[in-house]
Amino acid sequence: MNRHVIVDGARRPVSAGCADVPAPADARATERSGPVVRTERGQREVFCGLTGIIWMHRKIQDAFFLIVGSRTCAHLMQSAAGVMIFAEPRFATAIIEERDLAGLADANEELDACVERLLARRPDIKMLFLVGSCPSEVIKLDLSRASQRLSARFLPDVRVLSYSGSGIETTFTQGEDACLASLVPSLPRAEPAARELLVVGALADVVEDQFARIFEALGIPARFLPMRRANALPAVGEGTCLLLAQPFLADTARALEDRGAQPLCAPFPLGIEGTTAWLKAAADAFDVDPDLFARVVAPMEARGRAAVARDRARLEGKRIFFFPDSQLEVPIARFLHRELGMELVEIGTPYLHARHMAEELALLPDGVAIVEGQHVDRQLDRCRAAAPDITVCGLGLANPLEAEGLATKWSIELLFTPIHGYDQAADLSGLFVRPLLRRAKLKV
Ligand code: SF4
Repeated sequence: MNRHVIVDGARRPVSAGCADVPAPADARATERSGPVVRTERGQREVFCGLTGIIWMHRKIQDAFFLIVGSRTCAHLMQSAAGVMIFAEPRFATAIIEERDLAGLADANEELDACVERLLARRPDIKMLFLVGSCPSEVIKLDLSRASQRLSARFLPDVRVLSYSGSGIETTFTQGEDACLASLVPSLPRAEPAARELLVVGALADVVEDQFARIFEALGIPARFLPMRRANALPAVGEGTCLLLAQPFLADTARALEDRGAQPLCAPFPLGIEGTTAWLKAAADAFDVDPDLFARVVAPMEARGRAAVARDRARLEGKRIFFFPDSQLEVPIARFLHRELGMELVEIGTPYLHARHMAEELALLPDGVAIVEGQHVDRQLDRCRAAAPDITVCGLGLANPLEAEGLATKWSIELLFTPIHGYDQAADLSGLFVRPLLRRAKLKV
């Protein structure tokens, strides 16, 4: 059967490229009209891609992120990840001064000297990312060429890569996508016959370890990108099955598919239902015996369901509004609606990748409003008019909305908190319980 979403009143199919993956059971049972998707363009209220460094620097333990930017970029990073200034940091900002902007200095020479000093002082660095910013793009500093030049000089000890974290027309999770996409050309080539699962997207180490144990129990050879050490690059080739753990990795997925990886389409591993469907996509691709699959996941499903059920009483029937920010909005809305009984007022999302989201959209209720893109004033008007019980939004909108009496959840917390997998499902639901409890306590 065909599944459709409605875009500005016109239906379009959403499952291109995933025809080999069976539709979720309830989508097969009856013809559904699906969510109503429309796009909106206007002023945006989002963090830039530099923000991704805050969680990415924890993943690759011998990597360093050198932002080539302004004092504004440095302030953003230090205030967003202030705790790191007390430790030996794995990110820093090479400040572009006024004389660089005025063309009075050779920015390439200064960058090379800066990298040389950094690597001499920090021999533990094995992978260096040069991260572009708005200012480096304004002066047209070619960081791609700089990384090639510096790699030629410092390899084999240090691999130098580059990507843009610029805030122009990006959202903060695109920083991770750009970072991982920059890694893809460096991945070794796998033998075509080598069947391996590649899980793509930064997961908290505790979650990655849980998934690694599950894949091992299922007999699936699995690797993860990003890897924890710079010299542990996973190989990729025609035998690689690509399973996205995060929904915002369109460029990385495209680059891996260009290297021959075969995409598996599945809901994302958020909540019990999403985690099982995600694992099942991998299990089916590797012909895992269904009985073995059921035996492995059943105890974890049961434990996760019991933990999530404790939050259902608090969230059931509550109305939630998502501003577009993290690109996690659609899978989290699906979890909150289907497993906790929340009512979805509007799901804003910066981008909607039809293929990567097809399985998620099929699980959303008919007629639910999805808005791709941002026109912040109109969204604020709709949010105020709807008066939802919880509003998920960026930091810049949260305080004003709280002052107006709305309970908010910062979307960036969804990236800082381990929320994937069975054991974290209750932590994810708990993130939405807390704003309600806080408001209840504040009421006099
Ligand atoms: S990259 Fe651009 S948006 Fe981000 S902190 Fe720097 S100047 Fe601001």
